[in-house]
Amino acid sequence: MNIQTPPTLQELAVRSLLRNEAMAMFYLGELPAVLFPEVFKEAFARRHINIVKEMVAVWPFPRLAVGALMETPNLEIYKALLDGVDMELKEEFQHREKNLKVLDLRNVHHTFWNICADEGKSGCSSETLDKKQAVKVFPRYALRQRLRVIADLSLKLSLNKTQAYFLNWVQQRKSSLHFCCIKMKIWSLPFQDIKGILNVFDKEQIAELELHTKWTLLQLRHFAHYFGQMRNLRKLILAPLHMTTFSTIERTRVRETRSVNNFISQFSQFNCLQHLFMSQVHFLRVQMHQILGCLMTRLETLSITNYITSQRDLNFLSCCESLFQLKHLDLRGTVLYSLDLMPLRALLHKVEDTLEILQLEGCRMIDSQLNALLPALGQCSQLTKINLYKNDFSMHILRALLQHTDNWNKIVVEQYPAPLECYELSHVSRERFSQLCSQLMATLRAIRQPKNIAFASKMCQRCAKHCVYTQVTRLCRCWH
Ligand SMILES: [Zn+2]
Repeated sequence: MNIQTPPTLQELAVRSLLRNEAMAMFYLGELPAVLFPEVFKEAFARRHINIVKEMVAVWPFPRLAVGALMETPNLEIYKALLDGVDMELKEEFQHREKNLKVLDLRNVHHTFWNICADEGKSGCSSETLDKKQAVKVFPRYALRQRLRVIADLSLKLSLNKTQAYFLNWVQQRKSSLHFCCIKMKIWSLPFQDIKGILNVFDKEQIAELELHTKWTLLQLRHFAHYFGQMRNLRKLILAPLHMTTFSTIERTRVRETRSVNNFISQFSQFNCLQHLFMSQVHFLRVQMHQILGCLMTRLETLSITNYITSQRDLNFLSCCESLFQLKHLDLRGTVLYSLDLMPLRALLHKVEDTLEILQLEGCRMIDSQLNALLPALGQCSQLTKINLYKNDFSMHILRALLQHTDNWNKIVVEQYPAPLECYELSHVSRERFSQLCSQLMATLRAIRQPKNIAFASKMCQRCAKHCVYTQVTRLCRCWH
């Protein structure tokens, strides 16, 4: 029998209050603070626009985080939230005590009730901070004393209705509120539009920036000015949407080079950067070492993928202190064939006590290069994942690699290329694939028990699939 938990007395009281909107509005002033979150949640869910608006204006806690309530954004309720802020700013509310310091619109996972309850308890600390700030009112502090509105932004060419409304609302209140964006994603939006937005939001509050743009190298110069002000960036993802190349006209090329150098120099402003991802950033060709040289912090993640690297870039890896505590190194699709990998080996030695994830898929390395890395690879005792797919290794060197892995006590995911001996005229031989992969598996099992291991062939030229050997053999479509 399904017995439903009966509603609590408080829930019944809240529902009863909201049944009559006029009465609820009348009694809001006398509502105990402890009931605000429950009433707000119910009013939000039932889309009582006027009550939501009024409650934001008289919110008794320092913070109102509504993200958990906005899983399916609704423009009307969103407008009500912002109208509530407007009411709070109005004259008739000036005599009231201003409790609300932060309106958090981010759609992040948390429990609405817990946020309110915790904030209620921590209210005094926030108040103390504000009193401290009130001692000397520098422009920066004055900004912080304003009500903060926090949002994450994903800016694409076509904004949805809620975003468009919000950004328009923001522009009109830039002098009275403090706008913060924690995660900003910019997709192919014209720079002029981005400029308007960056002029309103506090650049120092941006912790994560993702750039996917079609800007030219000269447009990059304009962005560099804002980029350098994002001093508290923790995570940066650069992934241009098309290959930006230098002009063939000498004069333009000089200006472009200056623009790129200016952009690179901004990396020295980032005091908190921990995770750096760059994919297909071809305009930085032969200048990656300059970026690494500008870094002020020790990175946890370095991801340089699908990039045309140079020996000079690679040489810099072994002497760049910012990389000496890496947990995650990702060079997928960066062709290392024909380069001397001793600097990479030196880097692996530096990070042997910290590196957890190593991704070298599609680097087109050959036996002698893997051989150079083996002594360092074997010492990486913290590895939980290694991906070496799409490299050209023979049976002999793969066996040697596996024999060097007895130190890998934490490894969970291992991805290796199928040995070159599996191929006959560039096609996978079914029998040899199964036989050789099973031999490699036996080699490894003699040393330790793998958890999640796979050997994969190159992509089949006929069906564009791979043959994969795990505990069982999974062949490409051509064999079915
Ligand atoms: Zn096939």
